[in-house]
Amino acid sequence: MRIEPPFCTKCGEPAPAIEGLCGSCRSNEHLFDFARSALLFTHSLREIIHHLKYADRVSLAEPLGKLLKECFERERFTGKMVVPVPLYRARERERGFNQAELIAAGLHLPMNTRLVQRRKNTPSQTGLSRNQRKRNLAGAFEIREQVTGTVIVVDDVYTTGSTMNEIARTLKRSGAERVEVLTVARVPSYRTEETDASAAAVRVQ
Ligand SMILES: [Zn+2]
Repeated sequence: MRIEPPFCTKCGEPAPAIEGLCGSCRSNEHLFDFARSALLFTHSLREIIHHLKYADRVSLAEPLGKLLKECFERERFTGKMVVPVPLYRARERERGFNQAELIAAGLHLPMNTRLVQRRKNTPSQTGLSRNQRKRNLAGAFEIREQVTGTVIVVDDVYTTGSTMNEIARTLKRSGAERVEVLTVARVPSYRTEETDASAAAVRVQ
């Protein structure tokens, strides 16, 4: 289900009566500059992403990458360099791939998979409060190279923005001027029937 306006002009949060910025952006809660997602995280999309991640259906990355590209072209992204959200190395070895990287390939933009590394094997964020998530993620990422300009961070699902905030903080500390976020799916904080059960079952990694 495509995310149609109205949504927050900065973080893309959909809400029925939003004008301009959402509450989180008004109180400067996000450290990234711009975020958009192609689709709402509905039951069916959850199934597709789950199959990609846990049943090795890597062929599903291609249609998801196409959705990502359509969203990129429709929205006002300014970055040209893509960084997929990294998995913890042992987890990637176990899975054999990083789904964010497979999906991001569909953008056909320069991609740097080395720049951001995950230092901590953060447990599933499911059921944690915003503050617990933040604590969990503190120091979870490190930057391997000097960064300049705008970086587009790509992932499969945007849940609360905690992961993206932590990556944005780390990137900006290393010189990034602007951090843009692009995901296939979005779990809105404004829950609907279609997204509610999926959100309850979401696994951040
Ligand atoms: Zn917002």
